[in-house]
Amino acid sequence: FDFKLNDRTLVRQQCYIDGQWWDADSGKTLDVTNPANGQVIAQVPYAGQAETRRAIEAAERALPAWRAKTAAERAAILRRWFGLLLKHKDDLGRLMTLEQGKPLKEATGEIVYGASFIEWFAEEGKRAYGEVIPTPVADKRFVVIKQPVGVCAAITPWNFPCAMITRKAAPALAAGCTMVLKPAELTPLSALALAELAEQAGIPAGVFNIVTGDPKVIGQELCNNPTVRKLSFTGSTPVGKLLMEQCAPTLKKLSLELGGNAPFIVFDDADIDAAVAGAIASKYRNTGQTCVCTNRFIVQAGVYDEFAQKLAAETAKLRVGNGLEEDVVQGPLINPAAVEKVERLISDAKSKGATITTGGERLEKDGLWFKPTVLTHMTPDMDIAQQEIFGPVSALFKFDTEDEAIALANNTEYGLAAYFYARDIGRVWRVGEALEYGMVGINTGSISTEVAPFGGIKNSGMGREGSHYGLEEYLEIKYMAMGGL
Ligand code: ADP
Repeated sequence: FDFKLNDRTLVRQQCYIDGQWWDADSGKTLDVTNPANGQVIAQVPYAGQAETRRAIEAAERALPAWRAKTAAERAAILRRWFGLLLKHKDDLGRLMTLEQGKPLKEATGEIVYGASFIEWFAEEGKRAYGEVIPTPVADKRFVVIKQPVGVCAAITPWNFPCAMITRKAAPALAAGCTMVLKPAELTPLSALALAELAEQAGIPAGVFNIVTGDPKVIGQELCNNPTVRKLSFTGSTPVGKLLMEQCAPTLKKLSLELGGNAPFIVFDDADIDAAVAGAIASKYRNTGQTCVCTNRFIVQAGVYDEFAQKLAAETAKLRVGNGLEEDVVQGPLINPAAVEKVERLISDAKSKGATITTGGERLEKDGLWFKPTVLTHMTPDMDIAQQEIFGPVSALFKFDTEDEAIALANNTEYGLAAYFYARDIGRVWRVGEALEYGMVGINTGSISTEVAPFGGIKNSGMGREGSHYGLEEYLEIKYMAMGGL
C-alpha cells in the first residue's frame, strides 16, 4: 500500500524493543485497515507474552542510566522528539487518517496536540520539587524527595492514536521512568511512527518500547510482571477494571482514564449561539468518538426549542465523508460494531418517544459513515441516558429547575467531563461545584490542553494526565529523616 508520505521511514510494521525492530516470534501478523473503505493498509506483528517480557527486561536494563541523567539532559532529548513530531506532522496526520478515519485537519491537529505534551513535560520534569519539612525535634531534619517510579506500562486506545501515547510517555520519560507501550490494535501505525521518531531523537534503546499484538496476553504480562511498577491505561471501563484486578497481586500504581457520559447543560440565561458552537465542538469532534464528547444535552424549558432548532441546523451542515477529502469534518466511525451501536441506541430512543430532527441513518448502505443526528424529546428511561454513544448523535433532554438539571447531570455511574452554559455568576459557581465530574467546561466545549489535569472520578477512573499533576503520577515520594545532628 502506498501511503504517499514524504518520508516513508515513518511507516513501521514491526515491534520496537530495546532500540530494535522485531517481528513476532510466531511470525503472525495483525491487519491494519482503513475504516473509510475497509482496505488492508498494513500488517503489524501479533506479538504475545515472550516479546512483552523481552520489552520489560529491556526497559529494566535501560532504567538506571536514564534515571541517572539530569532532568535537563532528558529534556534536551525529549525536545528533539517534540521537534520531529512537528516537522513530520503532515505525514503523521495522513498516516492517522488512513488507519483511524478522522479528517486530515483533525489528525494533524492531534499531532500538534500530542507533541505539546512532550514539550510541556520535558520542561516540567525539571520542576519535580521535593520539600523540607520544618522539624519538630531539634536534632533531626526531614526532607522529601521525588524519584521516578521505574518501569511503566501503558495501554492506549484507537480514538487518539498519538496524543494518548504522548500524554503517558512524555511525563514518564521526563520523570526518569522507562516504558513499554501496547497501542490499540486498530491504530498501531501512529504509535510505531512515534517510536521511529523517538529513535531519531536519540531516546536510548530500551527507554521506550512498543509491543503490538494480542491485547489480552500482552496485558496479562504487563500486569503480572513484578518489574513493572505502574500501569497507565486509557480505554473502556470494563477493561480498566479487569486491569486493576490483574494488577492487584503486584500492587502496581494505576492511572485509569475510562468511559464517560458527559452532560452539557444549557440554562435559560446562556448565550444560545455560543452554546450551539460549544455543543458542535464538544459533540462532533472525532465523529463523536471521544471520552469527553457530550453524551446528553440537558436544556432548560425556556430555551429548549430555540437550542434544538439551531443545533439541528448547524449539525445538518457538517460534511461527512473520507477524511482525506478537503472540507470533510466527519469521518467514518471506527468499525461496523460502532455503527450498529449508534443505530441500536437511536432505535431504542425512537421506540420510547424520541424525535429525530436531523440525520438518524447511515450515509450509504455500506460503509461506516453515519449522518450527524439530533434527537429531541429524550427521557431518562432511554438507553442513551446511561450508555456512552461514541458516535455523532446529539440527544436533548429537558428540565425546569437548576436542582433538576444537576440531579439529571449527576445521574450516571461516570464522572469524566461535564459542560454547562450560563451567565449568572452565582449559578456558575453553584453548578460548577455541584457537578460530580473530574472536569467541567463552563461556557466552552473544549477543555483538553497539556497544561490542565485531565481525568475522572467514579467509573471514569483515577489519576490525572497533563499538568504538574500528570508528572506526579510517575514519581514516588520518599521521606528522609536525618538524625544525629
Ligand atoms: P475501546 O472501546 O476504546 O476499544 P478497549 O478498552 O477495548 O476500549 O480498548 C482500549 C485498549 O485496551 C486497546 O489498546 C485494547 O487493545 C486494550 N485491551 C482490550 N482488552 C484488553 C485486555 N483484556 N487486556 C489488556 N488490554 C486490553
